[in-house]
Amino acid sequence: MNSLIAVATVKEEVKMKGSDIQAKQKKYSLQSWSAQKNTAPIPVEKAEGMYFWDFEGNRYSDMSSQLVNLNIGFGNKAVNQAIKDQVDQYCFLSPAYAAESRANLAEKVISVMPDNISKVFFTNGGSDANENAVKIARMFSGKFKVFSRYRSYHGSSFGAGNLTGEPRRYALEPGAPGFIKFFDPYIYREAIEFTSEADATAYYLTKLKEQIIYEGANNVAAIVLETITGSNGVIIPPAGYLPGVRAICDEFGILMICDEVMTGWGRTGKIFGFENFDVKPDIITFAKGVTCGYVPIGGVAVSKEIADYFDDNYLSCGLTYSGHPLACAAGLATINFYQEAKILDNVNAVGKVLAETLEKLKEKHACVGDVRYIGLFSAIELVKSKESKEALVPYGKDPEGVMPKILGMLKAKKFMTYFHENMLIVAPPLIITAAQLTEEMEKMDEVLTQVD
Ligand code: PLP
Repeated sequence: MNSLIAVATVKEEVKMKGSDIQAKQKKYSLQSWSAQKNTAPIPVEKAEGMYFWDFEGNRYSDMSSQLVNLNIGFGNKAVNQAIKDQVDQYCFLSPAYAAESRANLAEKVISVMPDNISKVFFTNGGSDANENAVKIARMFSGKFKVFSRYRSYHGSSFGAGNLTGEPRRYALEPGAPGFIKFFDPYIYREAIEFTSEADATAYYLTKLKEQIIYEGANNVAAIVLETITGSNGVIIPPAGYLPGVRAICDEFGILMICDEVMTGWGRTGKIFGFENFDVKPDIITFAKGVTCGYVPIGGVAVSKEIADYFDDNYLSCGLTYSGHPLACAAGLATINFYQEAKILDNVNAVGKVLAETLEKLKEKHACVGDVRYIGLFSAIELVKSKESKEALVPYGKDPEGVMPKILGMLKAKKFMTYFHENMLIVAPPLIITAAQLTEEMEKMDEVLTQVD
């Protein structure tokens, strides 16, 4: 057979229609967080910047950055090239060897961390970063209890799932001992009316301190927090809360672990979320935006004191793919891109437009009870009544599928995001322009009018 014809035939066979791809994926793989028969993953043919296209040529806007991860958007040429170059050198080198891209990424990560942080342990993603952070805290402190919050998501693997406080932890319960939950400052839905943020802060910190004492302060290794609660609705702590947690940690000799998996790498207008609150954690976990998933990687960055401890004490942590050379090459190129593109300036400038737009939506629409935002990270909380604050749908009680229907209305306008409880998340790639954001938020405005 003519070889050109043979190549063309193979290409024909490979280029399945979108619906075939969807059907095949559904037939042979299990989709996360879904009853399988309800899933209809959009088959994507190509993607560029903040957009992707299906096989019928429809263009979708990625308004939640592929799980609040794809900060640099699709198709970043510098990151693609760095990965290709690394492929040409070698794809894999075990963590026991010194790899140039691994050394370079570690140096780069430490260069953007607070000055108390001196070393990083690489993982494969966010969940295992949190698990290793807990192990490190336990080894270093000799204590075993770990506090985390109810409205938190720290991952769904078995170890990280123990830290997660919301219902995604149920599937692994009863879980492991020593994981204690406390309530977070979700002021909008608090039973108590606070007169000021300071009041709220004092209340939550008093409760936390009381709980630590009752758990036996000497048993507590660490407090783990999402600096800004992410997938549970962009809950921004009141003024003084995080410094207050830091002070409690210092008072009782507890390590403060900030989970920056979602809030890290520019999402909130600073490199890391905690920088908005003037605190320095002892341990910082990260993933997502460090490579934007071009190749997966995560990490646990630790203070000098902790790093020094492991000079003489055995670090009982290890993963085959820890610090994968391809991921490290992607990470270095991603952070370089953030710096060269001055991404924080864009987040802060476009974030202002987002903030103004959200405030206007809140004023205009009866169904918008609350809007919360920081940088390009935001949530719109939908209610039946602004006065009563009654949620449009209480969590887990949406038999008519109201929230999926609203998502469907957005999808019909090619505005792609996700919801949690009664909240819509808006967290576009950090490269979005003000004009692009305005165009997308007009679609949101139209959908909220229908919801009203
Ligand atoms: N921590 C936070 C705050 C997250 O948002 C997530 C994922 O969304 C994780 C941890 C888990 O990360 P991964 O899915 O990479 O394991």
